[in-house]
Amino acid sequence: MIWLAQFVAWLWLTWVFWNVLQMVFGPLLMDAPCTNGLWVHMPKAFRARLTDEEAAAVVAHERGHIVRLHVPRNLVMRCLFLPESRERYERFELEADDYAAAHGHGLALYHVLTRFARTPFDQARARRLLARSA
Ligand SMILES: [Zn+2]
Repeated sequence: MIWLAQFVAWLWLTWVFWNVLQMVFGPLLMDAPCTNGLWVHMPKAFRARLTDEEAAAVVAHERGHIVRLHVPRNLVMRCLFLPESRERYERFELEADDYAAAHGHGLALYHVLTRFARTPFDQARARRLLARSA
């Protein structure tokens, strides 16, 4: 019976290892700004479409994810097979927005979101940042 416990443990460790690999290297494959919890990935094509202030705002938002430990918290959830909820995703985005706004990038982040918003949630984030900056 111990072989079964060892097998399950190896399966789980493989799952954890796979998720760590995805966390560290996954952002490099993205075509949008993101972070792996250690550094910020900004695709050159996306950066070229931003002003310097907008790029700084995007980096500040991603740093908000790093400071608030969103990536390792998501990693733990995934390793424990807990589903990622919409509420959690939205709360993390708003926390990262708040971090950027608290560091003087609220208005520039608003401009980025109004230009690149793809979802009603992104539009709501932009309105929230504008109200906060006014
Ligand atoms: Zn974000």
